[in-house]
Amino acid sequence: MKKKQFAVIGLGRFGGSICRTLSEQGMEVLAIDIDEDRVNEFASIVSHAVVGDSTDENVLKSLGIRNFDHVIVAIGDNIQASILTTLILKELGVQHITVKATNDYHEKVLKKIGADQIVHPERDMGERIAYNLISNNVLDYLELSDKHSIVEIVASERLDGHSLLELDIRARYGINIVAIRRGTNVIVSPLASEIIRKGDVLVVIGADEDIDRFEEKVV
Ligand code: ADP
Repeated sequence: MKKKQFAVIGLGRFGGSICRTLSEQGMEVLAIDIDEDRVNEFASIVSHAVVGDSTDENVLKSLGIRNFDHVIVAIGDNIQASILTTLILKELGVQHITVKATNDYHEKVLKKIGADQIVHPERDMGERIAYNLISNNVLDYLELSDKHSIVEIVASERLDGHSLLELDIRARYGINIVAIRRGTNVIVSPLASEIIRKGDVLVVIGADEDIDRFEEKVV
């Protein structure tokens, strides 16, 4: 597989964490920040770290930003700089742009100017933690749309020893179990004959209301 090339603009907590993880995963990362101290901090972590103002089109051009597969704009509080940077990246024809939004107004503008992916780290993490707090059985949650999700649910005593066929989950609840995690083992696309054990992590996909019904009745 061809190594993907990433550029991360803004090395605060969010951008910094993205840089570290991408580098740990062996990805090529160009880190850019206007602050020299931040850049020095990342010099030994990423492939290249440079000081630069991303609102200056010439800076981005001279870095060859157009050739990167994916650019992440992680400028926090300076909304104006975040918007201007995204606009320039878009105009330069960058393939895929992910931007951190600070509030709804910021998100609206980013959508209008064509950011491919907009993330709200604090809000999204808050939602995840809230789901965890509500249900002891829900480990993780990924929103697919405002009505559909993928949820990781821990199988309770009630499911223990029953096969997927017996439980007939798809017909009864309209949801699908796409994988089962059992210890370090992952069973992808489990067969109908698969027997569920207490403590298995069920990776479930479906409409939110159907997943809720399943959780209430069975888990
Ligand atoms: P977080 O909330 O993720 O910690 P911060 O607001 O602390 O975010 O960090 C944003 C980073 O973006 C800072 O390191 C800041 O120096 C950098 N930054 C702000 N404006 C620009 C710009 N125009 N060009 C490059 N980097 C910038």
